[in-house]
Amino acid sequence: MSQEQRRRTSGGLPRFGKRPPQYNFILNPYVDARFTSCPKCNRKMGQRKVPLMIHVEPFFPLVLNKTCRYCSSCDLLIAHQDEIQDLLAKLFPDRPAKFSKKDFLPLGTLDRADWKQSQKTPIPVGDLQEYLHDFKKVLEIQSTGGWVREEKTEPRAKRE
Ligand SMILES: [Zn+2]
Repeated sequence: MSQEQRRRTSGGLPRFGKRPPQYNFILNPYVDARFTSCPKCNRKMGQRKVPLMIHVEPFFPLVLNKTCRYCSSCDLLIAHQDEIQDLLAKLFPDRPAKFSKKDFLPLGTLDRADWKQSQKTPIPVGDLQEYLHDFKKVLEIQSTGGWVREEKTEPRAKRE
């Protein structure tokens, strides 16, 4: 990532991918909330396995093929933070400190076909943004006063 992209990462969701945005996304920090029903519409949530691109400090973006909760009515994808932390801990066993939320940032998703291809021929880090779908919106869960607060609907780049 260039300096410019890294700087945006610290300020929130970077506008990074060149493919059309996909999914409204929630990173669920609550280990006791597993969201069998959708926090927005209350319908039963399904599961969807998606190649999630995640920026990991101080490394570079990597892709985890991760099963997430999914509501098709809201086009809402929920990934559990603790599960991502466990996967990262397995990938980086020599890392002295435990992964916390500030150590990684889900950036978006890849098409399954591109992800499969990248398993055979890794995509150079500099080319990743060509394949990335940013999230449409990143939502946050609040445990009081309602479950979901819509964060930024404007592209973050406008804040620059
Ligand atoms: Zn829903």
